[in-house]
Amino acid sequence: MRPLNIIVCMKPVPDPKKWGKLKLDPQTMLLRRGDVPAIINPLDRHAIEEALVLREKHGGSVTLVTMAPPDAEDLVSEALAMACDRACLLADRAFAGADTLATARVLAAAIRKIDVFDLVFCGAYSADGSTAQVGPQVAELLAIPDLAQVVALEVRTGIARARCQVDDGETVYEVDLPVLATFSREANVPRLPTMRGIMQATRAGIERWTAADLGLGADSAGLKGSPTQMLNVFTPASGRKGEILQGTPNEVAGRLLERLRGERLI
Ligand SMILES: Cc1cc2nc3c(=O)[nH]c(=O)nc-3n(C[C@H](O)[C@H](O)[C@H](O)COP(=O)(O)OP(=O)(O)OC[C@H]3O[C@@H](n4cnc5c(N)ncnc54)[C@H](O)[C@@H]3O)c2cc1C
Repeated sequence: MRPLNIIVCMKPVPDPKKWGKLKLDPQTMLLRRGDVPAIINPLDRHAIEEALVLREKHGGSVTLVTMAPPDAEDLVSEALAMACDRACLLADRAFAGADTLATARVLAAAIRKIDVFDLVFCGAYSADGSTAQVGPQVAELLAIPDLAQVVALEVRTGIARARCQVDDGETVYEVDLPVLATFSREANVPRLPTMRGIMQATRAGIERWTAADLGLGADSAGLKGSPTQMLNVFTPASGRKGEILQGTPNEVAGRLLERLRGERLI
């Protein structure tokens, strides 16, 4: 089997442990991400691990692609230090405020620029936006098949065989390469960066690409290129209140039935 060239899309997300500090900008209605330190999207670590395992088995290369502001370079270096070969940071003011489609356009343009690839890996969803749309949209833009919520992946000459989570269990798919796959946390246990990896990452460096480098016009990226328009953001009023029924199990069951009949729910 020939070596595999794998591209992994890695998104920096605000650290979920610090979400209490996240605020919305009242003017733009976008999250003020700068208020909270970022981490590598947890499921993207699983995508990177899967790529590294395949490279160890078949040879080839693992390239990271991240669309984020320039200050994401520390996180890109951290991911590179897991033992990836190359990293491209797509940073340009024109990318700001992107919805999922505008994000996917930028990632797809970068993947086309990298040119030679057999597999594109993503996390199944991000810890912040969590739409799970970016992976399938990138696949559609690249006109390749996509496998969602993968828990196990094998590659044989020209073919990927994947076990994927579906609503009522798991399904096995076999597709021709190239293919995009999004990974669930059950896929593997991601490795930690090693000292050797950190030194290699420093040597490899990070390539920085702008909208012009990707041949993207102002109307296809960022807020301008986003069909999703946010009209309003608000915290819904919580009208629920809880009540704990007291008594023996039989008494509580009787009271619950009474209450449900009273509300005409049964
Ligand atoms: C209605 C709506 C409102 C939004 N509001 C805001 C907002 O207020 N502020 C704000 O900053 N963003 C906002 N976004 C989110 C912004 O659009 C997302 O950051 C971006 O489009 C990715 O979507 P997601 O986080 O849902 O990714 P998902 O589709 O859940 O991510 C899946 C995978 O795609 C890959 N991926 C996703 N994004 C990137 C990336 N940038 N670089 C590399 N790989 C990536 C990763 O592998 C990730 O695991 C909003 C999105 C929507 C739909």
